[in-house]
Amino acid sequence: RMKSSFVAMASHELRTPLTSIKGFTSTLLMDDSYAPDERREFYQIIDTECDRLTRLINNILDFSKMEAGKKTYNFQVADINTIIANVMNTYSYHLQSEGFTPQIQLAEELPTLQVDTEATTEAVINLIDNAIKYSGDRKYLCVRTLQKGSMVAVEIEDHGLGIAEEHRKKIFDTFYRAGTALVHNTKGSGLGLSLVKHIMDAHGGRVEVDSVVGEGSTFRLLFPLERRA
Ligand code: ADP
Repeated sequence: RMKSSFVAMASHELRTPLTSIKGFTSTLLMDDSYAPDERREFYQIIDTECDRLTRLINNILDFSKMEAGKKTYNFQVADINTIIANVMNTYSYHLQSEGFTPQIQLAEELPTLQVDTEATTEAVINLIDNAIKYSGDRKYLCVRTLQKGSMVAVEIEDHGLGIAEEHRKKIFDTFYRAGTALVHNTKGSGLGLSLVKHIMDAHGGRVEVDSVVGEGSTFRLLFPLERRA
Protein backbone atom coordinates (compact mmCIF):
# COMPACT_ATOMS: atom_id res chain seq x y z
CA ARG A 1 0.00 0.00 0.00
CA MET A 2 2.83 2.38 0.91
CA LYS A 3 4.57 1.58 -2.36
CA SER A 4 1.55 2.37 -4.48
CA SER A 5 0.80 5.57 -2.61
CA PHE A 6 4.46 6.44 -3.19
CA VAL A 7 4.09 5.93 -6.95
CA ALA A 8 1.05 8.23 -6.96
CA MET A 9 2.89 10.82 -4.87
CA ALA A 10 6.09 10.64 -6.91
CA SER A 11 4.22 11.07 -10.19
CA HIS A 12 2.45 14.06 -8.75
CA GLU A 13 5.70 15.51 -7.43
CA LEU A 14 7.39 15.06 -10.78
CA ARG A 15 4.54 16.71 -12.61
CA THR A 16 4.36 19.84 -10.48
CA PRO A 17 7.83 21.23 -11.32
CA LEU A 18 7.45 20.09 -14.94
CA THR A 19 4.20 22.02 -15.30
CA SER A 20 5.86 25.10 -13.94
CA ILE A 21 8.93 24.76 -16.20
CA LYS A 22 6.73 24.23 -19.23
CA GLY A 23 4.54 27.21 -18.31
CA PHE A 24 7.37 29.69 -17.86
CA THR A 25 9.28 28.47 -20.91
CA SER A 26 6.20 28.81 -23.14
CA THR A 27 5.55 32.29 -21.76
CA LEU A 28 9.12 33.37 -22.49
CA LEU A 29 8.95 31.91 -26.00
CA MET A 30 5.62 33.41 -26.94
CA ASP A 31 5.88 36.88 -25.50
CA ASP A 32 8.84 39.21 -26.03
CA SER A 33 7.36 42.09 -24.09
CA TYR A 34 8.61 41.12 -20.62
CA ALA A 35 11.17 43.42 -19.02
CA PRO A 36 14.64 41.97 -18.39
CA ASP A 37 14.10 41.65 -14.64
CA GLU A 38 10.78 39.87 -15.19
CA ARG A 39 12.48 37.48 -17.59
CA ARG A 40 15.23 36.94 -15.06
CA GLU A 41 12.69 36.03 -12.44
CA PHE A 42 11.15 33.45 -14.80
CA TYR A 43 14.58 31.96 -15.54
CA GLN A 44 15.24 31.77 -11.83
CA ILE A 45 12.01 29.87 -11.22
CA ILE A 46 12.82 27.48 -14.08
CA ASP A 47 16.27 26.92 -12.61
CA THR A 48 14.92 26.25 -9.11
CA GLU A 49 12.27 23.87 -10.43
CA CYS A 50 14.91 21.98 -12.46
CA ASP A 51 16.91 21.56 -9.25
CA ARG A 52 13.83 20.26 -7.47
CA LEU A 53 13.23 17.72 -10.25
CA THR A 54 16.86 16.65 -10.14
CA ARG A 55 16.76 16.06 -6.38
CA LEU A 56 13.59 14.07 -6.62
CA ILE A 57 14.88 11.92 -9.47
CA ASN A 58 18.20 11.39 -7.66
CA ASN A 59 16.32 10.19 -4.59
CA ILE A 60 14.20 7.79 -6.60
CA LEU A 61 17.18 6.41 -8.54
CA ASP A 62 19.24 6.06 -5.39
CA PHE A 63 16.41 4.35 -3.63
CA SER A 64 16.02 1.76 -6.36
CA LYS A 65 19.79 1.15 -6.35
CA MET A 66 19.71 0.66 -2.59
CA GLU A 67 16.76 -1.69 -2.79
CA ALA A 68 18.62 -3.78 -5.35
CA GLY A 69 21.76 -3.65 -3.17
CA LYS A 70 23.56 -1.88 -6.01
CA LYS A 71 24.32 1.51 -4.52
CA THR A 72 28.08 1.95 -4.47
CA TYR A 73 30.11 4.50 -2.57
CA ASN A 74 33.35 6.19 -3.46
CA PHE A 75 35.23 7.06 -0.28
CA GLN A 76 37.95 9.65 -0.46
CA VAL A 77 39.70 11.93 1.96
CA ALA A 78 37.61 15.09 2.21
CA ASP A 79 36.99 18.10 4.40
CA ILE A 80 33.47 18.20 5.79
CA ASN A 81 33.56 22.01 6.17
CA THR A 82 34.23 22.37 2.44
CA ILE A 83 31.35 20.05 1.60
CA ILE A 84 28.98 22.05 3.84
CA ALA A 85 30.23 25.40 2.51
CA ASN A 86 29.59 24.20 -1.06
CA VAL A 87 26.07 23.01 -0.24
CA MET A 88 25.20 26.29 1.50
CA ASN A 89 26.61 28.23 -1.40
CA THR A 90 24.63 26.35 -4.02
CA TYR A 91 21.54 26.53 -1.87
CA SER A 92 21.65 30.15 -0.74
CA TYR A 93 19.27 31.47 -3.39
CA HIS A 94 16.75 28.71 -2.77
CA LEU A 95 16.91 29.22 0.99
CA GLN A 96 16.44 32.95 0.68
CA SER A 97 13.51 32.57 -1.64
CA GLU A 98 11.94 30.29 1.00
CA GLY A 99 12.45 33.03 3.61
CA PHE A 100 15.47 31.53 5.40
CA THR A 101 18.68 33.31 6.33
CA PRO A 102 20.73 30.31 7.39
CA GLN A 103 23.32 30.46 10.14
CA ILE A 104 26.45 28.53 9.33
CA GLN A 105 28.81 27.58 12.15
CA LEU A 106 31.82 25.61 10.98
CA ALA A 107 34.27 24.16 13.49
CA GLU A 108 37.64 25.82 13.07
CA GLU A 109 39.71 22.71 12.85
CA LEU A 110 38.23 19.41 11.83
CA PRO A 111 40.15 16.27 11.02
CA THR A 112 39.77 15.18 7.41
CA LEU A 113 37.62 12.11 6.88
CA GLN A 114 37.09 9.33 4.40
CA VAL A 115 33.72 10.19 2.88
CA ASP A 116 31.74 9.89 -0.30
CA THR A 117 31.36 13.59 -1.08
CA GLU A 118 28.39 13.18 -3.41
CA ALA A 119 26.43 11.00 -1.00
CA THR A 120 27.23 13.26 1.96
CA THR A 121 26.08 16.28 -0.03
CA GLU A 122 22.86 14.46 -0.82
CA ALA A 123 22.27 13.58 2.84
CA VAL A 124 22.77 17.19 3.92
CA ILE A 125 20.50 18.49 1.14
CA ASN A 126 17.75 16.08 2.18
CA LEU A 127 17.96 17.34 5.77
CA ILE A 128 17.92 20.99 4.68
CA ASP A 129 14.96 20.30 2.39
CA ASN A 130 13.09 18.81 5.33
CA ALA A 131 13.95 21.77 7.58
CA ILE A 132 12.43 24.03 4.91
CA LYS A 133 9.35 21.85 4.46
CA TYR A 134 8.58 21.30 8.13
CA SER A 135 9.32 24.73 9.57
CA GLY A 136 5.93 26.36 9.18
CA ASP A 137 6.20 30.08 9.93
CA ARG A 138 9.28 29.91 12.14
CA LYS A 139 11.93 30.11 9.48
CA TYR A 140 15.15 29.38 11.31
CA LEU A 141 17.96 27.20 10.02
CA CYS A 142 21.37 26.59 11.48
CA VAL A 143 23.93 24.25 9.96
CA ARG A 144 27.02 23.49 12.02
CA THR A 145 29.98 21.17 12.10
CA LEU A 146 31.76 20.06 15.25
CA GLN A 147 33.91 17.31 16.63
CA LYS A 148 32.22 15.04 19.16
CA GLY A 149 34.72 12.68 20.73
CA SER A 150 35.79 10.24 18.04
CA MET A 151 33.15 11.49 15.61
CA VAL A 152 32.69 14.50 13.36
CA ALA A 153 29.13 15.83 13.47
CA VAL A 154 27.06 17.85 11.05
CA GLU A 155 23.94 19.34 12.66
CA ILE A 156 20.94 20.79 10.89
CA GLU A 157 18.67 22.63 13.30
CA ASP A 158 15.22 24.06 12.63
CA HIS A 159 12.63 25.73 14.86
CA GLY A 160 9.74 24.11 13.07
CA LEU A 161 6.97 21.63 13.81
CA GLY A 162 9.08 19.06 15.66
CA ILE A 163 8.53 15.29 15.69
CA ALA A 164 6.61 13.42 18.35
CA GLU A 165 8.46 10.70 20.24
CA GLU A 166 6.34 7.89 18.74
CA HIS A 167 7.43 8.85 15.22
CA ARG A 168 11.07 9.58 15.90
CA LYS A 169 12.44 6.11 15.17
CA LYS A 170 10.07 5.29 12.31
CA ILE A 171 10.79 8.39 10.22
CA PHE A 172 14.00 6.68 9.05
CA ASP A 173 11.96 3.83 7.53
CA THR A 174 11.28 3.85 3.81
CA PHE A 175 8.00 5.60 2.88
CA TYR A 176 7.20 6.50 6.52
CA ARG A 177 5.76 9.97 6.98
CA ALA A 178 4.76 11.31 10.40
CA GLY A 179 1.31 12.75 11.08
CA THR A 180 2.60 16.33 10.89
CA ALA A 181 3.64 15.90 7.26
CA LEU A 182 0.19 14.67 6.31
CA VAL A 183 -1.70 17.15 8.48
CA HIS A 184 0.27 20.02 7.00
CA ASN A 185 -0.24 18.63 3.54
CA THR A 186 3.49 18.83 2.82
CA LYS A 187 4.74 17.26 -0.35
CA GLY A 188 7.05 14.34 0.14
CA SER A 189 7.81 10.76 -0.68
CA GLY A 190 9.01 9.43 2.66
CA LEU A 191 12.32 8.45 1.02
CA GLY A 192 14.64 11.24 2.14
CA LEU A 193 15.51 10.08 5.65
CA SER A 194 15.80 6.41 4.68
CA LEU A 195 18.42 7.48 2.13
CA VAL A 196 20.20 9.55 4.77
CA LYS A 197 20.29 6.52 7.06
CA HIS A 198 21.63 4.26 4.29
CA ILE A 199 24.35 6.79 3.50
CA MET A 200 25.40 7.13 7.15
CA ASP A 201 25.42 3.34 7.64
CA ALA A 202 27.72 3.05 4.64
CA HIS A 203 30.08 5.52 6.32
CA GLY A 204 30.11 3.47 9.52
CA GLY A 205 28.34 6.40 11.16
CA ARG A 206 24.76 7.18 12.08
CA VAL A 207 22.01 9.79 11.97
CA GLU A 208 20.26 11.01 15.12
CA VAL A 209 17.45 13.43 15.85
CA ASP A 210 16.59 15.57 18.88
CA SER A 211 13.16 17.10 18.67
CA VAL A 212 10.50 18.84 20.69
CA VAL A 213 7.02 19.09 19.22
CA GLY A 214 6.21 22.72 18.48
CA GLU A 215 9.80 23.83 19.05
CA GLY A 216 11.86 22.22 16.36
CA SER A 217 14.32 19.50 15.45
CA THR A 218 18.03 18.99 15.19
CA PHE A 219 19.24 16.24 12.88
CA ARG A 220 22.81 15.10 13.42
CA LEU A 221 25.02 13.19 11.01
CA LEU A 222 27.85 11.45 12.83
CA PHE A 223 30.94 10.36 10.91
CA PRO A 224 33.57 8.19 12.60
CA LEU A 225 37.13 9.48 12.39
CA GLU A 226 38.23 5.97 11.50
CA ARG A 227 35.86 4.64 8.91
CA ARG A 228 35.23 0.98 9.41
CA ALA A 229 35.61 -1.25 6.37
P1 ADP B 1 9.27 13.21 3.27
O1 ADP B 1 9.78 14.52 3.78
O2 ADP B 1 9.37 13.08 1.80
O3 ADP B 1 7.94 12.85 3.83
P2 ADP B 1 11.47 11.99 4.77
O4 ADP B 1 11.93 10.56 4.77
O5 ADP B 1 12.47 13.01 4.40
O6 ADP B 1 10.23 12.03 3.79
O7 ADP B 1 10.89 12.32 6.19
C1 ADP B 1 9.99 11.41 6.84
C2 ADP B 1 9.06 12.15 7.78
O8 ADP B 1 9.79 12.68 8.90
C3 ADP B 1 8.39 13.37 7.16
O9 ADP B 1 7.23 12.98 6.45
C4 ADP B 1 8.07 14.22 8.39
O10 ADP B 1 6.89 13.74 8.99
C5 ADP B 1 9.21 13.90 9.34
N1 ADP B 1 10.28 14.93 9.31
C6 ADP B 1 11.45 14.87 8.63
N2 ADP B 1 12.21 15.97 8.84
C7 ADP B 1 11.51 16.76 9.69
C8 ADP B 1 11.75 18.04 10.32
N3 ADP B 1 12.89 18.74 10.10
N4 ADP B 1 10.78 18.53 11.14
C9 ADP B 1 9.65 17.84 11.38
N5 ADP B 1 9.35 16.63 10.82
C10 ADP B 1 10.26 16.09 9.99
